[in-house]
Amino acid sequence: MKEGKFIVVSAPSGSGKTTLVRALLSENLPLSFSISATTRKPRGDEVDGVDYHFLSTIEFKKFIDQEAFIEYEEVYPNKFYGSLKTDVERNWKSGKHVIFDIDVIGALNIKKKYPNQTLSIFINPPNINVLEERLRSRGTDSETALLERIQKANEEIKFLEKFDKSIINDDLEKSKKQIIKVVKDFIDT
Ligand code: ADP
Ligand code: 5GP
Repeated sequence: MKEGKFIVVSAPSGSGKTTLVRALLSENLPLSFSISATTRKPRGDEVDGVDYHFLSTIEFKKFIDQEAFIEYEEVYPNKFYGSLKTDVERNWKSGKHVIFDIDVIGALNIKKKYPNQTLSIFINPPNINVLEERLRSRGTDSETALLERIQKANEEIKFLEKFDKSIINDDLEKSKKQIIKVVKDFIDT
């Protein structure tokens, strides 16, 4: 298999990571999104096989036993997320680099496993209050899920300096330009 590169994008939930990754993917670069598997339920307009492979916990655990994941994490209690090896192989075969939208630990694990072929990017919210406002206005999480995400955000921000690049997502248009530039520079080298 011809190996490509990995771009791992990580951020506290609500920072705008999905929005920025979508902007990147609309740029006509040789990039493909790694569709993670998860045991959480679909949210908003999410589609199975497009945004995530939505699995039952039993199905997910079967994949763990088969060593089918590059990495996986229990990101929230009883909510598993993982990146499938088959997804990466399919993308590399078609000449594309693979972009992951994964949690901080998963991102740093991939960077550690593949240091030279991985670019790690951290999307930072301007501050925790803005993060809470964005999560509330997105309107897709229950109050419990929202508090869980804010609590986790406080932990995740501590890992910021371990990433190759960080972007403060304040002005969305500026952030889009920034992420497109760092990714273009990385895949061109
Ligand atoms: P994540 O994938 O990190 O959970 P989303 O991309 O879903 O975050 O963004 C969370 C919410 O914040 C969405 O409603 C999105 O439209 C909004 N958003 C993203 N970036 C910005 C920004 N720079 N300024 C204001 N709102 C933003
Ligand atoms: P959400 O439920 O908001 O889509 O995602 C919750 C968290 O799980 C986010 O930080 C997201 O990046 C992370 N995540 C999504 N897919 C994966 C994955 O395959 N592996 C890991 N480790 N985290 C993931």
